[in-house]
Amino acid sequence: MKIAIDGPAGSGKSTVAKRLARELGYQYIDTGAMYRALTAYFLDRDITNETDIEPLLVTLNMDIIPGGIRINDTDLTFQLRTERIDEHVSYYSSLKSIRDWAVKRQREIASQMDVVMDGRDIGTVVYPDAELKFYLKADPNERAKRRALERNEIDNYAEILLDILRRDQLDSNRTHSPLSQADDAIVVDTTKLTIEQVVRFMKDHWDEKTAKTTV
Ligand code: C5P
Repeated sequence: MKIAIDGPAGSGKSTVAKRLARELGYQYIDTGAMYRALTAYFLDRDITNETDIEPLLVTLNMDIIPGGIRINDTDLTFQLRTERIDEHVSYYSSLKSIRDWAVKRQREIASQMDVVMDGRDIGTVVYPDAELKFYLKADPNERAKRRALERNEIDNYAEILLDILRRDQLDSNRTHSPLSQADDAIVVDTTKLTIEQVVRFMKDHWDEKTAKTTV
């Protein structure tokens, strides 16, 4: 089964997706980390134009390693959650060639597996036929607080909030695969919910789904 979890930055996607995957014995795939790794790879080489990026994509080998990502044997894990990548990732992930490459890789990795995949376009583009789709949302102030706590940077709350609002805007308004809710996604407002409550809610839907399909 494919479970898609989409939503904006800080809505709680990765935390709940990881836990749900563990509970169900499914593979967890963090597609945001893939876009972050591509961003780090090209930024490190000062490559910003899509015309320069496109021909290089065929030379890339991306491996998912425990807790991180390697591209062509370079471990990019430590860079993924930095301000530098936060600042540039929405630009790189708006490029069609990058999206096509990443979506293809995401489908390759997830084929033949039960997965919980989180991102912005999983239920709409990557797996429009996913058996279960969730769309998480939360108040931006709460999302910024979570991000700041997660990174141990509570003093940077105001900057983190601005970054979240900027990325919401870019990710929702880009031409290719913008952040949007699939019509058949179950919407969860996580603002006032604990991680456990969100995971329980999703697990209940999974129980219901699997009970129906096994009858
Ligand atoms: O989820 P995370 O905050 O790590 O995602 C980083 C960025 O990667 C997002 O702001 C978005 O620009 C991009 N992204 C995307 N499509 C996905 C996952 C992430 O465009 N499926």
